[in-house]
Amino acid sequence: MTDTRYLVHGVFWDGPAPSAAGEARVVLRLQDDAGAIREVALDAGTRLGFRVTAPGKRCLGHHKVHGPAERDYVRCAERAAAERGHQCGTCFAVDDSRLVHDFHRGGRVPAGLRAYLMQPHWLYVATFANGASKVGTAAELRKWNRLAEQGAVAARYVAAADDGRIVRLLEDLVTRDAGLPQQVRSTAKAAGIAAPLLPADVDARNARRAAGARAVLAVAGSEGYRVVDEQWRRPRLADAAAVPALRHAYPHDLGSGTHGFETTALSGSVALARLDGADLDFVVNLASLKGRTIELGQHRSEVPAVQESLF
Ligand SMILES: [Zn+2]
Repeated sequence: MTDTRYLVHGVFWDGPAPSAAGEARVVLRLQDDAGAIREVALDAGTRLGFRVTAPGKRCLGHHKVHGPAERDYVRCAERAAAERGHQCGTCFAVDDSRLVHDFHRGGRVPAGLRAYLMQPHWLYVATFANGASKVGTAAELRKWNRLAEQGAVAARYVAAADDGRIVRLLEDLVTRDAGLPQQVRSTAKAAGIAAPLLPADVDARNARRAAGARAVLAVAGSEGYRVVDEQWRRPRLADAAAVPALRHAYPHDLGSGTHGFETTALSGSVALARLDGADLDFVVNLASLKGRTIELGQHRSEVPAVQESLF
């Protein structure tokens, strides 16, 4: 029997919002050569071992959206190399989600995507471990999940909008008048987890930036939304990652070789990992596995010599 090769789709926080205990389901989603999906649950104590079998990244296919909760995933017919982000040129060109960003500027969209966009949406302000904040939008059905996958340390919803067009107009307004960007890079999020601010400080910054966004929204005077003040609940698996501690960036390139570690916490796609034989947590940005081809196995990452220099 040969080992199964998998294309890594990434880390997904697709379960329901956590209960008071904070438990949430998060998985690393893999796809075998026949197209079957396999999900590896990521928890505190998950052992993750793998070998990267080929250089470079492959296309992750595209989506056709049929309604608020209905969408089809379409595999890349060519299993081509990724050229535009995580897609090949063909999949990028036919992906419905590409059209989302032009919808509020009057762009035309297919009926299914329109039904998706016309559901209620939330505008949020999220703050990350390094203190950087952004404004963003979440569809009603992804209200909690969107922030979990982003790896927010603290976040507040600042408006409830009737649909996805209005919420994107509000997002642009908050960027323009409250100075909040719409993106924080994944590398900045990982660097933040390596040296986080105190969670209480992150929360205080978030409260301040959210208040600034609300002040802008309160005087905007357009219709189809209401200003809200509602806190997002961080999943428990992300709590340990948000607390300052002595940590190191993962010393190996996830683009090649063998890797093996135990995950102890997860913020978005950024894991804290324990390497065999080291008492330190390493920060592993699992987002950089997206699009790579791997085999699972009993591997262990080499502990770097950096450890001695700490004592
Ligand atoms: Zn493709």
